[in-house]
Amino acid sequence: MNPEHLMLVDPADLKKVRIECPTCGTAVTVDLSPDGHIAKLGACVGCEGEMGSVAERKAATDLLQALRGWQRHGAALRVRFELSPMAHLAAAASQAGRAHKA
Ligand SMILES: [Zn+2]
Repeated sequence: MNPEHLMLVDPADLKKVRIECPTCGTAVTVDLSPDGHIAKLGACVGCEGEMGSVAERKAATDLLQALRGWQRHGAALRVRFELSPMAHLAAAASQAGRAHKA
């Protein structure tokens, strides 16, 4: 049995957010550092199709700007993201270890 740990992420711990095109999988990485720029999401650089719906792009942009705001100014609310158990990572590491020993 693998122990499961509660993993909480503070917005200040987030460095970059990766947004992938639903059509071709090309990813845009948004740098949340103070020098980073949050560009308006639009056409995909891979397939030139729209990255999701208008509502999704607006939601993603709002989320990115909220993250940036929490990082810069803090929040009255203590916002934390809880990650799901990473059991798949432990299984992958175990498999890699077995492959390495073989
Ligand atoms: Zn694309």
